[in-house]
Amino acid sequence: MDIKKFGVIGSGQMGNGIAQVAAASGLEVVMSDIKQEFCEKGLAAIAGNLDRMVKKDKISQAEKTAILGRITTTTDLKDMASADFVVEAAVEREDLKFRIFEDLDAFCPPHVILATNTSSIPIGRIAARTSRPEKVIGMHFMNPVPVMKLVEVIKGLATSDQTFDLTWKLCEDFGKTPALANDYPGFIANRILIPMINEAVFCVYQGVGKPEDIDTVMRLGANHPMGPLALADLIGLDTCLAIMETLYDGFKDSKYRPCPLLRKYVEAGWLGRKTGKGFYDYK
Ligand code: NAD
Repeated sequence: MDIKKFGVIGSGQMGNGIAQVAAASGLEVVMSDIKQEFCEKGLAAIAGNLDRMVKKDKISQAEKTAILGRITTTTDLKDMASADFVVEAAVEREDLKFRIFEDLDAFCPPHVILATNTSSIPIGRIAARTSRPEKVIGMHFMNPVPVMKLVEVIKGLATSDQTFDLTWKLCEDFGKTPALANDYPGFIANRILIPMINEAVFCVYQGVGKPEDIDTVMRLGANHPMGPLALADLIGLDTCLAIMETLYDGFKDSKYRPCPLLRKYVEAGWLGRKTGKGFYDYK
């Protein structure tokens, strides 16, 4: 199937990054959100990223204009009907994703593949809300999308080989390196990464170390490019908590219990960089 128009649900940090790489690969992109101001914020983030690439001579001013020119925005999910492939990158809430997939299934022609960028929710559970489970797949980009090479491609129980092959090729067309994961909570990346972050939060909670020291230990001692708490602030503490909850619910294993301090921060609205406060202050 020839993909010309690419739909993205959500204009947040992941959605706008996915829209950027899709448009940079030459596709027409329609990016949605619930409010026009969120779409504008997403577009501004893309323009800012492209500006930095122009300054570094990675792309020309004309290329920047062409990439931005390929992206339109909408607050009406029905506009996804014109897309050949849709990726959902709305917030990590199961009920919300269920509703979006039910709507997409109703609005999009039957041949359209519906992918989700979910960090942890089982693909099969989302696919079961549609009449086309064979065309539902996980396409898990890493943050920040324009920089990170990996896309975890998650095959649900019902995902067809045709859907898988097309999604894999699309990742390559975007200049990414895909890796296959099977459909278990958290897949591969977050099954390993988020419990490590949760353990770092336990270290703060139990007074083992201050965030700065915990991050220094992991950067210099384990050679991580970024400490786990700085990374948690980048990912979003709400997203980290949602992933831990999915792991805990999915495996019913106490090793995946979220740290109470993580929950407390999220309840206080300390979500990390996106709200200006998390384990570090960004104001
Ligand atoms: P975010 O909060 O930055 O953005 C989410 C966006 O979705 C918001 O702009 C919100 O208004 C929008 N939204 C909510 N309901 C919507 C709807 N019904 N229709 C359209 N848009 C809607 O979150 P994010 O970090 O971009 O995460 C998005 C998804 O990507 C989540 O499923 C998350 O688990 C996953 N993900 C996140 C990361 C990360 O590091 N943050 C990495 C990989 C995957």
